Amino acid sequence: MSKANNPLSNPTAWSPDTQLVHGGSMRSEFNETSEALFLSSGYSYPTSDHAERLFKGEIPGAHNYSRFANPTVDMFQNRMALLEGAEAARGFASGMAAVTNAVMSQVRAGDHIVASRALFGGCRFVIEDFMPRWGVSSTLVDGRDPENFARAMQPNTKVVFIETPTNPTLELVDIKAVADIAHAHGAVLIVDNVFATALWQKPLLLGADLVTYSATKHIDGQGRVLGGIVLGSKTLIEGDVHTFLRQTGATLSAFNAWVLVKGLETLPLRVRQMTDSAAKVADALAGHPKVEKVIYPHHPSHPQYDLAKAQMVRGSTLLAFEVKGGQEAAFTLSDSLAVILISNNLGDAKSIITHPRTTTHQRLTEDVRLETGVTPGLLRLSVGLEASDDLIADLMYGLDQV
Ligand SMILES: *Cc1c(COP(=O)(O)O)cnc(C)c1O
Repeated sequence: MSKANNPLSNPTAWSPDTQLVHGGSMRSEFNETSEALFLSSGYSYPTSDHAERLFKGEIPGAHNYSRFANPTVDMFQNRMALLEGAEAARGFASGMAAVTNAVMSQVRAGDHIVASRALFGGCRFVIEDFMPRWGVSSTLVDGRDPENFARAMQPNTKVVFIETPTNPTLELVDIKAVADIAHAHGAVLIVDNVFATALWQKPLLLGADLVTYSATKHIDGQGRVLGGIVLGSKTLIEGDVHTFLRQTGATLSAFNAWVLVKGLETLPLRVRQMTDSAAKVADALAGHPKVEKVIYPHHPSHPQYDLAKAQMVRGSTLLAFEVKGGQEAAFTLSDSLAVILISNNLGDAKSIITHPRTTTHQRLTEDVRLETGVTPGLLRLSVGLEASDDLIADLMYGLDQV
């Protein structure tokens, strides 16, 4: 009879689509329908005693400074936590701020990190270059075989960091197998889940301890703001992760959080449509005589197809393909496209083509690039919301020019 007895009063009973529209909403005294944007750096207190208790942490959910607590950011964190099935989450200024925080909050000088070598450029830099400057050594391994992680573990390994599928060659790492290895050595597993999205892969359910996203990608999905988020258990998030955020300040702005909260409302619609199109584009490119190979996790030609089917609900909104004729062919193709943009963002409403060798992976040596499959003819395609027929026609025209 009453709303309180309705089983749907509990947001954890909602389907993801519903969680992403209503989850985490907090209404002010005005009962606004759309989430409010609290552009306020600070908060005032009714009494000195209240302030004292608040600073002692005795008033749960209270806000005292927007570096580490803001109602709009809370709504974003809580909505994402519902979707991910996480106990808690913290927003960050960017995906790199989120990854750096997740990693640094778990280690100290003398510790060791094991990571897969096929990583987003910034993540690889943090683990390979920055961490050793502060006395944290790291080993990068070929992530396709879990045994490589087992072999690289040391008594002082505190973090295992992976990205799956990887950027840009969509290699997979077996999350469950690597989680078991990490835990057997007392290390935490951190998974950068950007390429799969929270809809198609649930690292926490497979044993990960922390999951990170660049919210700049599918979560905004419309190329407007930067943001990041780390999700996991209350213990890790409200402990190390929160402390690191609070004291170092790579804070997600309330404005960006508000854009991201609104982005979450349409995330399933966008990601579903983009995934449908990505699968169609992969099929269209697969048999083309000028295409050496197509890499798409849910395409039967993917070398880890069985793992992709087991670990991912669907196959990502991104694909990679190699044109015959190397860099010159890749440039000719990209330069003849009329709809797809040449850029380096991903997960956007607008389809984006990237030549990793000369842009995102330019910093690496040719040997390291080839080791991770970044060949001269490789192109990464982030499939957007345009009609898939137009995207395929655009690519076919491009291939004709090669
Ligand atoms: C973009 C990206 C990041 C970094 O996110 P920013 O928001 O650009 O800082 C980290 N990991 C992956 C896999 C990404 O695609």
